Amino acid sequence: RIYIEPDYTLLTKMKQRQDENQVHITNLERLKGKENITQSGQKIDICANIGTREDIERVIRSDAGGIGLFRSEFLFMENGNRQPTEEQQFQAYKLAAESMGMNRVVIRTADLGGDKKASFLEFGNEPNPAMGLRGIRISLEKEEMFKTQLRAILRAAIYGNVQVMFPMITTVEEVVQAKEYLEKVKQELKAEKVFFDENIKVGVMIETPAAVMIGDELAQMVDFFSIGTNDLTQYTLAIDRQNEKLDDFYNPHHKAILRMIQMVVDSAHKYGKWAGICGELGADLELTEEFVKMGIDELSVSPSMVLPLRKCIREIS
Ligand code: PEP
Ligand code: MG
Repeated sequence: RIYIEPDYTLLTKMKQRQDENQVHITNLERLKGKENITQSGQKIDICANIGTREDIERVIRSDAGGIGLFRSEFLFMENGNRQPTEEQQFQAYKLAAESMGMNRVVIRTADLGGDKKASFLEFGNEPNPAMGLRGIRISLEKEEMFKTQLRAILRAAIYGNVQVMFPMITTVEEVVQAKEYLEKVKQELKAEKVFFDENIKVGVMIETPAAVMIGDELAQMVDFFSIGTNDLTQYTLAIDRQNEKLDDFYNPHHKAILRMIQMVVDSAHKYGKWAGICGELGADLELTEEFVKMGIDELSVSPSMVLPLRKCIREIS
């Protein structure tokens, strides 16, 4: 809002607001380097979400403990009519890996489709794109594209603590196939004598009700879960997240969503795996205490929410 020739009262009010804001920022800045720990000693990892390489700088400044979600599809969407090459991808992933040092960098393989279209891919006329060809379904169909991305991720992984994650999982078979591709690519790199991380950790996004319900099986196949509450809410409540007319119905606090999150955490822990949240709900400070009680291991949020979330966790008794 722009005030033309503000009077003295307004100026004083604004100055006061500016000072309060500055105090708030200074208090948050003091939390840099501190642990994300509750007063009773429970520790939670706080990581940050990124879309492009430009976001990496913001993550470093935010004092996040790593990148919990690298939305790699933006590399594909911003490359005009061509797929990004292995080298282009490798450079972006390597930069993230090196910038984060020993902190983890979770690279999600391209979650294209739905609202995220790339011009080099033909989607035809999909009446309901959110339920159409997207995420892992495309990757498993576009073998070359998927293998190129896996090569770039595996090669970049030797520069830091890179982990790979598959989006939009609904079946065990999808995970089996995706892991088969990963193995195939490893064998190819080995044959070519190219360096890569043989022991890369593999995770899946839990963002469909189907994945929640088969969580106990999935947990035995992967190293970690990351809950995509944006899509999980969309698919559970049957509400198109792109449709503004439905904003009043889009309720990620719905009991069904919260119970599902608990189920996912329990499935992961049953098999000694960790579970995080990388959807927007992870940054919802009204729910932080509940997530902590559920036993969530990680929250991955936008860089600007890292310190407010740390503050909130440290205030929990
Ligand atoms: C999610 O669905 O919550 C998520 C993190 O993935 P995206 O928002 O990119 O679909
Ligand atoms: Mg999603």
